[in-house]
Amino acid sequence: MTEAVPAGLRDALEDPFAELTGALAGTTRMKLEVSESRRITPGMQRLILTAPELADLAYRPGQDMMLLVAADGRRPVRRRYTIRALDAARRQVTLDVVRHGAAGPGERWIASAEPGDVIEGIAPRGKVFLAEGREWHLFAGDQAGLPAFSAMAEALPATAHAQLVVEVPTPEDALAPAAVADLRIDWLYRGERPAGDSGALVRALARLALPPGDGQVYLAGEAKVVLALRETLAGRGIPPERLSPKAYWGLGRANAGHGEPAKEG
Ligand SMILES: Cc1cc2nc3c(=O)[nH]c(=O)nc-3n(C[C@H](O)[C@H](O)[C@H](O)COP(=O)(O)OP(=O)(O)OC[C@H]3O[C@@H](n4cnc5c(N)ncnc54)[C@H](O)[C@@H]3O)c2cc1C
Repeated sequence: MTEAVPAGLRDALEDPFAELTGALAGTTRMKLEVSESRRITPGMQRLILTAPELADLAYRPGQDMMLLVAADGRRPVRRRYTIRALDAARRQVTLDVVRHGAAGPGERWIASAEPGDVIEGIAPRGKVFLAEGREWHLFAGDQAGLPAFSAMAEALPATAHAQLVVEVPTPEDALAPAAVADLRIDWLYRGERPAGDSGALVRALARLALPPGDGQVYLAGEAKVVLALRETLAGRGIPPERLSPKAYWGLGRANAGHGEPAKEG
């Protein structure tokens, strides 16, 4: 049993989230144990974690779990991963994590995680979830956004209309959600191109036929890619309140200790 941050060091951290107040009011801190870790596609690792608190965890599809993956001196280093599924009866949460291969504390912990390993989690986090009363939903972004898009698409009723435009490395990474809604999926394959390039996604969204009526567009992935997609959709007349963008990671830059892309500068 390995602890991501050993208890002695955990207690000595200068932790901005020592109290779950402010933006963290309503979240729960828990000690999670790894039940299972396996590759589900060439580029995606599935982790199943368990904790007693999961029996009562309320969350909305699209929200995430913040894991304390490491400590940098006395500073906590956290990373955020979307709740792909929650089985309250079995007290198990599923996280699908991109194996990006670059050096990062999240990637390092995921790569080494074995059954019995222990890590602190705080959930639920995040403000992006399904907008109500929309006639259609469009989800677009890179592979890191796929777990959130899948969780949200699977929560839509059979009468809903949704579209997914997701860039993944290879056709083997094209893992479609088990949605009951009317769901159309456009997979974009990155092949040898590095992650974090906006070109293919921007071109796809620039020419995508948008359904009539009021829809909601959810964007997630590399920060500059999300920005480029926002601009593309704004240029197509989608008003800001119909866009739910979220920067997940920054190309060539480690995320900040609270798990979001570090600010430029
Ligand atoms: C609300 C929220 C929900 C998220 N949900 C998920 C999720 O469900 N699944 C998931 O896989 N990710 C998710 N992410 C993104 C994930 O937290 C980041 O990718 C994070 O940077 C990973 O941490 P790390 O320590 O591995 O890399 P960091 O230390 O942050 O970065 C190290 C290096 O790795 C590179 N890098 C980081 N992420 C990627 C990537 N995805 N592809 C290519 N290169 C990368 C960086 O450019 C940098 O060069 C989410 C982020 C947020 C904010």
